[in-house]
Amino acid sequence: MPIYLDNHATTRTDPRVVEAMLPYFTEQYGNASSVSHRFGWEASDAVDRAREQVAALIGAEPSEIVFTSGATEANNLALKGTALAARGPGQGGDHLVCSSVEHRAVLDPLRRLARESGWHLTIVPSDPHGRISVEAVEQALTDRTVLVSVMAANNEVGTLNPIGAIGRLCQDRGIVFHTDAAQTVGKIPIDVQADAIDLLSLTAHKFHGPKGIGALFVRRQGRRARLASLVDGGGHERGLRSGTLPVPLIVGLGRAAELAREEGPADADRMRSLRDRLDQSIRTLLHNQGVVLNGHPTERLPNNLNLSFEGVEGEALMMNLRTLAVSSGAACSSSEPEPSHVLRAMGRDERLGRASLRFGLGRFTTCEEVELASTIVAETVTRLRQSTCNSQVNHPDLARADL
Ligand SMILES: *Cc1c(COP(=O)(O)O)cnc(C)c1O
Repeated sequence: MPIYLDNHATTRTDPRVVEAMLPYFTEQYGNASSVSHRFGWEASDAVDRAREQVAALIGAEPSEIVFTSGATEANNLALKGTALAARGPGQGGDHLVCSSVEHRAVLDPLRRLARESGWHLTIVPSDPHGRISVEAVEQALTDRTVLVSVMAANNEVGTLNPIGAIGRLCQDRGIVFHTDAAQTVGKIPIDVQADAIDLLSLTAHKFHGPKGIGALFVRRQGRRARLASLVDGGGHERGLRSGTLPVPLIVGLGRAAELAREEGPADADRMRSLRDRLDQSIRTLLHNQGVVLNGHPTERLPNNLNLSFEGVEGEALMMNLRTLAVSSGAACSSSEPEPSHVLRAMGRDERLGRASLRFGLGRFTTCEEVELASTIVAETVTRLRQSTCNSQVNHPDLARADL
């Protein structure tokens, strides 16, 4: 098996999470909406507990948590739901703001609103580190702005955004602030009160919970976020997301949140030191030559490392790293959004952007894996650099065709 260093794509479900989920597939399989018998009560109690666990992780009230299938759906509900609710007669606002480094699960719903429903969309540029400044957001605001969406941490380069400052700016202007916190929740502390967040998307499978479950935080305390539902039916989740609740998945999300609350800080310290070791080790083995960090040197996730390697082809790098499960800047057939739009938005040149690797560490990453990974990367890069050199000497036509 290759070494798994792709924890921004997804994480292994913690065995303790699986254990917590199992009874809800077999013995306690009730519908949480069944109010007339014990099966329903048990399921409903389990959902209540999970709602508390998720709320506690982000400083919310349980009643502010809406379960969804993941962060993609939470983003869609936040963005389209706000747009739909704001479009009432006499509301006036018609302007949305997001950043250039957002995940496609934010960019695509916003682009659809702009294309099909007449909204104006401003995409705020990032700095070369992938960071969105509060000043850049402020410049984009108009008196018709309804919503701002800026991710808490980027999924490719790990850069953290000043969301507290952006949240307070929006609060002062009476603008709804949404943040996609899929990479942040469970990794570093985030607090919807302190950061003045109105809507926050999270997903279990990015922090050792199961796939297919996430949540949207919808502010009810103080200034209440107004949302229209996208999925109508039985009126579950305060009418915001109908459909029978997937109790085992919700229990898994709750347990993952509880573990993140208890172990997150220690996990973060471990991952940060392993990440720094990976970085140092690769650089040392490559004699500090032609290794470029993508992202912010300090303001970034503890488990992220994104490096570009000069003098190699992105495709060749990817093809020659089969023993490492990492993401590459080179276009590939995966359904994951291509890393390039973020690196491009940061102003990385195309070639260097493609010759990039995204390492994502997790709770289960070991020191041995990191050591081995750095050796594999350094050897592969060295070999490819040598062969590029040779091919340029021996086959000038090939080298030219390559451009
Ligand atoms: C993974 C991810 C998503 C999508 O989450 P799903 O639960 O898979 O839908 C959205 N935004 C960011 C930043 C992510 O990293």
